[in-house]
Amino acid sequence: MKKHNFYAGPSIMSQYTIDHTIDAIRDFAGTGLSVLEISHRSKEFQAVMDEAQALFKELLDIPEGYEVLFLGGGASLQFCMVPYNLLKTKAGYVDSGTWAHKAIKEAKLFGDVEIVASSEDDKYVYYPKLDNVPTDLDYLHITTNNTIYGTELREDPDVPVRMVADMSSDIFSRPVDVSKYDLIYGGAQKNLAPAGVTFVIVKTDVLGQAPRAIPTMLNYETHVKKGSMFNTPPVLPIYSALQTLKWYKELGGVKKLQEIDEEKARVLYDAIDESKMFVGTVKPESRSIMNVCFVMKPEYAGLEKDFLDFAATKGIVGIKGHRSVGGFRASLYNALPLDSVKVLTQAMKEFENKH
Ligand code: PMP
Repeated sequence: MKKHNFYAGPSIMSQYTIDHTIDAIRDFAGTGLSVLEISHRSKEFQAVMDEAQALFKELLDIPEGYEVLFLGGGASLQFCMVPYNLLKTKAGYVDSGTWAHKAIKEAKLFGDVEIVASSEDDKYVYYPKLDNVPTDLDYLHITTNNTIYGTELREDPDVPVRMVADMSSDIFSRPVDVSKYDLIYGGAQKNLAPAGVTFVIVKTDVLGQAPRAIPTMLNYETHVKKGSMFNTPPVLPIYSALQTLKWYKELGGVKKLQEIDEEKARVLYDAIDESKMFVGTVKPESRSIMNVCFVMKPEYAGLEKDFLDFAATKGIVGIKGHRSVGGFRASLYNALPLDSVKVLTQAMKEFENKH
């Protein structure tokens, strides 16, 4: 049976990425070797790295003065690397949920942290307003899409300081004005590649100013100087990332992806809003187009498991909400086809009619 993969990450990959990766596992770039066994110093892999960085820059229209890095350690290591390299005295953080919390915890090891805005008062069901951002911050850290709570900031806000953003779960879902950011990072395992690689877009002239010694591997300058090849990079996920970037280009680029993503989200949110059984958990103006969170209305409580089982008979997987929130979460990343969303909305209607 065809599966409809709504997992939050690792998550659905495009068939294009999977097929091209399989081809390279069998024979990489005509070398007669698998991409699994190739040297990262080979000219063929260097070409993959160069093309992935160039295409990343092209698709996001990244201005001069920025480098794209492919590192290990996940977005979680960036929670520490960002303040290690960029926090001089005081940084501002937006508290928009679980991942922001983890970033805040690390930053506090390196200097003063001011929580500039928070939606904790309402269990993170909206994206906090960024009206009162102080001017004396080294940077303002935002998490543009909150994968667990399903809230998203779908624009690059105007604030009086430079920004750093965790875009793990919404990179390549809209054009980004990179010039407003000193650094953007994310785990690749949603809109880019299989787990194992982390992307970083960094403005190189902000590096080298932190008032502390930085271990070599945790210093962005190391990786900028060595073109993400200081040590062995995650070869296979980078190869797959390049395939995804090529697929994005073929589809028509980031603006086109945004249109497709917005349409998918509209179909699902409409179904939720029209439903007698289901209700969205997020305030409409903050709704994520990547992670759609919803629950059953109180009068249907107790039917959650039945719905998950029913959905599974239609091939729907990965819609159980995060363990800290409950309910349901459907992740609509770029590789998820509109048809899968329609299968889900149809299943919701059928289930509702039965009860
Ligand atoms: N930030 C966000 C917004 C995430 O969704 C996640 C993972 N789901 C992380 C950070 C952590 O990423 P990693 O597992 O790559 O460390």
